[in-house]
Amino acid sequence: MSDRTFEACDLLIEAGFVVPVVPHGVVLEDHAVAVTAGRIVAILPLAEARMRFAPRETVSRPDAALIPGMVNAHTHNPMTLLRGVADDLPLKVWLQQHIWPIEGAVIGPDFVADGITLAIAEMLRGGTTCVNENYFFPDVQAATYKRHGFRARVGLPVIDFPTAWAASDDEYFEKAGEVHDQWRDDALIATAFAPHAPYTVNDANFERVRMLSDQLDVPVHLHLHETAQEVEQSLEKHGQRPIARLDRLGLVNDRLIAIHMTQLTEAEIHLCAERGVSVVHCPESNLKLASGFCPACALEHAGVTLAVGTDGCASNNDLDMFSETRTAALLAKAVAQDAAALDAFSALRAATLGGAKAIGFDDRIGSIEPGKEADLVCVDLSALETQPLHHVVSQLIYATGRQQVSDVWIAGKAKLRQRVLVEMDIDGVIANARQWRERIAGIRLS
Ligand SMILES: [Zn+2]
Repeated sequence: MSDRTFEACDLLIEAGFVVPVVPHGVVLEDHAVAVTAGRIVAILPLAEARMRFAPRETVSRPDAALIPGMVNAHTHNPMTLLRGVADDLPLKVWLQQHIWPIEGAVIGPDFVADGITLAIAEMLRGGTTCVNENYFFPDVQAATYKRHGFRARVGLPVIDFPTAWAASDDEYFEKAGEVHDQWRDDALIATAFAPHAPYTVNDANFERVRMLSDQLDVPVHLHLHETAQEVEQSLEKHGQRPIARLDRLGLVNDRLIAIHMTQLTEAEIHLCAERGVSVVHCPESNLKLASGFCPACALEHAGVTLAVGTDGCASNNDLDMFSETRTAALLAKAVAQDAAALDAFSALRAATLGGAKAIGFDDRIGSIEPGKEADLVCVDLSALETQPLHHVVSQLIYATGRQQVSDVWIAGKAKLRQRVLVEMDIDGVIANARQWRERIAGIRLS
């Protein structure tokens, strides 16, 4: 009889490879990750894990890499219902003649809840476990993410004109305060101010955003320097580039999550680094809308926190963080004219820990470390598309498709098992999406 005492744990994930992201550049072969009460308690060699733990559940994936859940640091997920509704058009025509009129006819709690539900199913099957959301009806966003146990920072919208969400400046801020109060202590959901963009928000509203974000200690999630035209218009109207204007208004600081940033001078890159601004790179949206190129490598070298986002499905047209991260890595090399720019490990870090840092969740998620919450993803590398396996992280960034994601956990709860969604009725989600297609087609015909 053995006198060895085992330590209890809820879950032991045994993986062929563990890529913890911290420390940087490390791949642990034949390791296990032990999880208890939703948190990572240990990362250790397989043989040691089996000697130490008596898990309630063991998941063994000898052909898989275990990575931190990916953080999609900029999306408009209700717009998943607008996937493919208008493509191959210039930004202004796309937005003003297609997206805004359709949104005007359909936007409301049902559209937001159904679009986010479709997005959650897609994200889970693609290894994404956390999202930085930017849309209207943040109350519905928060409730929908919570219902599905999905981690999110939801945006509290601010825009200069009336929408279905709010009719006046005061109403935007009142409702923002209410939603923030409702979710302030939640384990999965948090809020951020989401003033739409410099060209749709006036100085007075930006000042209110700054004051309240300081007071409530929440980030500011903002489209910024997306196109050359945005910068030109700002120069004409305000006599300043958008970043300079935001700096005058006190918003260029470590609360700022700047989305896109395709138009940047050397001095602006250094200002972002100095002030602790995070930049979310959305390469596929920028390419599709011909917006410009984010200098991802220069930002990273300057010390700016770099994250990856898909943007909404109306301009991407998917929520695939594997493809987005690959595009980010490839584009960074082209823009920097340097094949060493944004190497595979750095790209993976941007898609995980970078996103977590940008949205202020890095104390909880973004890497596989003891004490962090168990937002974890198993990627099956046995497929012929990722053979032979010379270099795990190269394979993950340059050769792996999201369909190779086998299992997903958020805070230690299984969300995807062997590619099957645990708590979601996928047929129901698809049937609902089909109904929206009919409804939107009806609007376009009328
Ligand atoms: Zn966007």
